[in-house]
Amino acid sequence: MFEKILIANRGEIALRIQRACREMGIKTVAVHSEADAEAKYVRLAEESVCIGPASPAHSYLNIPAIISAAEVTDAQAIHPGYGFLSENADFAERVEKSGFVFIGPKPETIRLMGDKISAKKTVAAAGLSCVPGSEGPLPEASDEILKIAKAVGYPVIIKASGGGGGRGMRVVHTEAALLNAVTLTRQEAEAAFGNPTVYLEKYFENPRHIEVQILADGHRNVVHLGERDCSMQRRHQKILEEAPAPHLTPRQRARIGERCAEACRKIGYRGAGTIEFLYAAGEFYFIEMNTRIQVEHPVTEMITGIDIVKEQIRVAAGEKLRIKQRDIVFQGHAIECRINAEHPYELSPSPGRITAFHQPGGPGVRVDSHAYQNYFVPPHYDSLIAKIIVHGENRAQAIARMRSALSEMIVEGIHTNLLLHQELLRDAAVLQGGVGIHYLTEKLAARNQIAGAVEPPNSK
Ligand code: ADP
Repeated sequence: MFEKILIANRGEIALRIQRACREMGIKTVAVHSEADAEAKYVRLAEESVCIGPASPAHSYLNIPAIISAAEVTDAQAIHPGYGFLSENADFAERVEKSGFVFIGPKPETIRLMGDKISAKKTVAAAGLSCVPGSEGPLPEASDEILKIAKAVGYPVIIKASGGGGGRGMRVVHTEAALLNAVTLTRQEAEAAFGNPTVYLEKYFENPRHIEVQILADGHRNVVHLGERDCSMQRRHQKILEEAPAPHLTPRQRARIGERCAEACRKIGYRGAGTIEFLYAAGEFYFIEMNTRIQVEHPVTEMITGIDIVKEQIRVAAGEKLRIKQRDIVFQGHAIECRINAEHPYELSPSPGRITAFHQPGGPGVRVDSHAYQNYFVPPHYDSLIAKIIVHGENRAQAIARMRSALSEMIVEGIHTNLLLHQELLRDAAVLQGGVGIHYLTEKLAARNQIAGAVEPPNSK
């Protein structure tokens, strides 16, 4: 086992990885930007190295600085967390070429899955169904693009092959709007991801987002840890997740889980990974695979009792998976609410100093957070400040626990989306379970319309 791991990330996930390491007797190196120098988890690490100024491009994305930090501290492995360099195949390669272990899949797997077109091709060959659409990139010729869209049927969605983080997507409802949308998405994709390749998919009007958690050791041992429902999204980004997915039958769960595990076996996958699907009319359609730990991994940990981060580390150290599929038991229900430093309804970021902070507790309540009273939420990064995760014997108990936990949570000095979560946990459709991915956007739009009717924007 490793003696020392460098954590190439920040915020709650840096703390989460640090906790796993501490339990395993592994020392940690925290790398941080100037903006994060005072963070508590930085001080809790055995060693810390400042890798640059606040801007991510100069710190958390600064590959040479991170490799040097690993060299000077004698770390043996690097955990990339999520976001930043976690799905950067060049980084994984540089880490390995420099003599360190990258805690994640092989660089070639990251590369294959990082491009959405090659990912779709690979998993289709490994037996998963994909969202119907263009087979591969959209061609240049206008008449061919029009022909493909017509065959798929409107509405369609144009997606950047190199896209991520909910960006680089455009929905098209009519033929008249198609070519312009393709041009715009290509331009945006080139600017944002350095790759203008786009493809086309059928746009599902009311699907759910359901994803399967995988663990693999690279020795063909692969297990699935069931699924998560992450349909509650705004701007294509998740804010509330749960496991298991409401109303899915144990048979459906086992079938999709086994198909994913089999696909990963065929690909030769190693590490933790998530296969994301749109679920519509009882069918699962692959959209993408994330080759890293995900923000919402704790809901799976709560219902399986498996520490996914520790498993990632063990597998990276070359150990074989000790868990067998038949040993995995799904117990009860778990929900996660992402608490963001943002306005609850307008969704605008709200960085700044937290003047009061109190986190909930009690049976079945877990809080993953790097924040505390007097912590300054920097404006340069993701707005996530805490994840409240609850576990209950069943969904009703988990909901009751989450309501109680949210009512205990205090964050003052900045805006957070706590109020929105409280509203969601009183919403009849959410209580029923199984809402689609557009539900929250529609709910917020309706809410803003009512607010606008009461107080027109120019009434001040
Ligand atoms: P990213 O890598 O940016 O997260 P994804 O391909 O995972 O992009 O898609 C993110 C979200 O966008 C999905 O969870 C879903 O809400 C929406 N989406 C993507 N593809 C489609 C589609 N074909 N039809 C409807 N919604 C889609």
